[in-house]
Amino acid sequence: MESNSQGTDTEKPVKSTPRQGRREAFRVSALQIWGSRIGWKITIRAFLTLIIIQMLALAVMLPHFQNENIDYIKETGRIAVLSAMDGTIRSDSNISPISEQSAATLAARTPILGVAVYDLEYNLLSAYGTLPPLDDLQQKIADGHSVTLSRRKDFMDVVYAPLDLARPYTIAVHMRSEKLLTALQNYITNNGIIMLVLSGLVTIVLMLSIGRWLLEPVILLRNNLIEAAKHPETPKIQYPRVETSDEVGVALKIANDLIRQNAANLLRLRSQAEDRIHRLAYFDRLTNLPNRSMFMEKLEEYIKNHVIKQDKRLAIMAIDLDNFKDVNDTMGHEVGDKVLEAIAYRFVHAMPDNAVISRASADEFNVLVLLGDKDRPQDYVNNIFEALEEPISIYQESFKIGGSIGVSHCPDDGIEAPKLLKNADIALNRAKEEGRNTARYYSEEFDKAVQKRFQMLRDLRVALDEKQFQLHYQPQFDLHTGKMIGSEALLRWWKPDKSKKGGHFVSPADFIPVAEQSGLIVPIGEWVLRQACTDSVAWQKEGFDTASRVAVNISGVQFHRSNLVRIVSDIIQETGIEPRFLELEVTESIFMDDIETTVATLKKLHELGVDLAIDDFGTGYSSLSYLRQFPIDRLKIDQSFIRNALSNPDDMAITKTIISLGHSLSLSVIAEGVETQEHENFLKQEGCDEVQGFKYSKAIPAPELVQFMRTYANDLKPPAKLATVK
Ligand code: C2E
Ligand code: CA
Ligand code: CA
Repeated sequence: MESNSQGTDTEKPVKSTPRQGRREAFRVSALQIWGSRIGWKITIRAFLTLIIIQMLALAVMLPHFQNENIDYIKETGRIAVLSAMDGTIRSDSNISPISEQSAATLAARTPILGVAVYDLEYNLLSAYGTLPPLDDLQQKIADGHSVTLSRRKDFMDVVYAPLDLARPYTIAVHMRSEKLLTALQNYITNNGIIMLVLSGLVTIVLMLSIGRWLLEPVILLRNNLIEAAKHPETPKIQYPRVETSDEVGVALKIANDLIRQNAANLLRLRSQAEDRIHRLAYFDRLTNLPNRSMFMEKLEEYIKNHVIKQDKRLAIMAIDLDNFKDVNDTMGHEVGDKVLEAIAYRFVHAMPDNAVISRASADEFNVLVLLGDKDRPQDYVNNIFEALEEPISIYQESFKIGGSIGVSHCPDDGIEAPKLLKNADIALNRAKEEGRNTARYYSEEFDKAVQKRFQMLRDLRVALDEKQFQLHYQPQFDLHTGKMIGSEALLRWWKPDKSKKGGHFVSPADFIPVAEQSGLIVPIGEWVLRQACTDSVAWQKEGFDTASRVAVNISGVQFHRSNLVRIVSDIIQETGIEPRFLELEVTESIFMDDIETTVATLKKLHELGVDLAIDDFGTGYSSLSYLRQFPIDRLKIDQSFIRNALSNPDDMAITKTIISLGHSLSLSVIAEGVETQEHENFLKQEGCDEVQGFKYSKAIPAPELVQFMRTYANDLKPPAKLATVK
């Protein structure tokens, strides 16, 4: 079922689509480039490779270069030698064509330091200056080695064959060749510099390219991934300056898309989760209606927007379904749930669209209505009752569910949401107390009563702590023998005040309901039980027998909410009372709850050996049909019947019936509230077994009871000394 009026403005706005990370161009800084490890790795390798390649090239080129230079020097030497030779062509070739003088000139003007001239048979014709060892020379000439370099390449021996000279001589020269050395050195140096510059340039270009095409996207990717890890839902994605379609560019684009998709998914999941949590936190799952928290929020909103700003009025209703628990208990939760759903549906349709209907707890609903100028809260209350009028049919069964309604009015009864709701609840409690199926409007009187109850509750706690409770005992008698058969323990609260007496008694009729409502009756009842047993044991020790028997009142709350069997058996152990000296008085109201557990508890109590009496019999829930199954010893006729038995025929009839019913079940019957001789006579005549009442004694403190027991003469008359007691 959809709650049309609720959903619309309470629905949380759906989160906008995930933020598309701001688009900002990314640029790596020079520092990042120079600091990049991968950049260095690649660059150093490239640099070294370049150098090695260039060195290899140099190594290949160098011999060429050297040979060219050698040829050049050789040629220079040849020209010098030719110019030093005389021009005379002789038939006899055993005269050296280079004179001593020419050789000296040659040595002085050219790098040639020494000259040796041979004829065709390699006979030395002349020699001048420094020469290589001539034997070697001859060998070289024979081997055709025309050029020999010194180790340091600064000197060179050259042999010119007759073909070189176009003359029938072989000339060997020893000459300086430092030019060759310098040329070689220059060649290597120049090449080296070019090599380095080139490699450097290539490296820089490489570094920049790596920076731009590799490093930049990789750093970008890294940044984006770190960002995605840190802010998975709202990552600030950075983009490259230019999107490239190379491998890195594509990888980057895919990664960015994934990060964005992931963010979008996460955001969507989160907003779904938030919606779910919101629903769980603010809506009732069964009926789909707003729950109490949401109702409070709406109430606050309505107060602010309509009452404060526009001077409008609101009615707040607290609705409690009467006896809904019975439906649950008898028909099961499944049917109970269906009934609730049906009721929620009817409420929603019974109220105007702008009303807020909420399920506050199991069978409680809250309604908030904005009142129009002529509207009265009563109109809406009637609508709710009308909605409940028609029985609800579930699985062919029809259920008539009643409701109690408490109404508070804003601004008359308050202007704060919690107070208004509390006041509606107070009015609701009043409605429930005053007979169900009614509505009550909050009034300050209720509030005062509630305040009084709270005060009383606080005082009761103090009373328990500070031992302000005491027990009085009202004797009970056998009507036929006149013997005292025990007494009923009645709780008294001596509440200190500023009066002369220093305090006053508070009637149990006033405080027991408060103690019951708060659960405080459990510890109080335990105290009563313990005290009564202790007193009874003390009396037995003084020699009183059956008169020492005590009857203790057990409240329904105590019966169901505490582990009564355990408490009773513990107290029996602790005080050493014989169980037959203890009687527990329960009222018929305990049978309102689950009968089986009630009977089980009663049986367990009975097994402990204590007596059980039904108090105020005849006034409560009629359970006559079950009575036979209950392990009961005594019926206690309520005092209201005794009071009027002689004047009201109905009460007389009831009294008679209870007596004969009790006897038919072999139970003792005791009458309480016996005030007069007439009462006593009537009861005796009807065969009632036992009596208790003001005629004999009111409830008195333990020491007075001891006095009573001592002086009582088994004559159903108060002892002389106590006769003054009303
Ligand atoms: P109850 O159990 O019906 O107790 C009998 C009440 O009638 C007592 O009032 C008693 O003083 C009063 N009463 C006795 N004889 C006469 C009489 O001849 N004429 C009149 N008019 N009244 C008579 P009390 O002591 O004020 O107790 C009131 C109720 O408080 C009790 O009614 C009982 O329901 C409850 N109560 C008292 N003590 C305890 C207790 O220890 N535990 C629990 N759970 N309830 C207690
Ligand atoms: Ca009683
Ligand atoms: Ca009673």
